[in-house]
Amino acid sequence: MLIIRCSGCKKKLWKYYKIGKGEVLRCHKDRIKKIYYINQIKNKIYCECGQVIAIDKGKYYKMISKGFIYTGTKD
Ligand SMILES: [Zn+2]
Repeated sequence: MLIIRCSGCKKKLWKYYKIGKGEVLRCHKDRIKKIYYINQIKNKIYCECGQVIAIDKGKYYKMISKGFIYTGTKD
């Protein structure tokens, strides 16, 4: 399980079940296990601090690599 955090203010955003060892390029919505904070304006996902975290593509979020960091383990 990974905790996705804002790279700017380190706020917890969501808990994600990652499959595979690759980079986190997308977060599939059905594998987001808990949401701590999401501010969605149109198709963009923002942190509370205003940083853009991801783009909503429908079934998944396309992650902005500079916008987030993560902690935890990849299963
Ligand atoms: Zn932030």
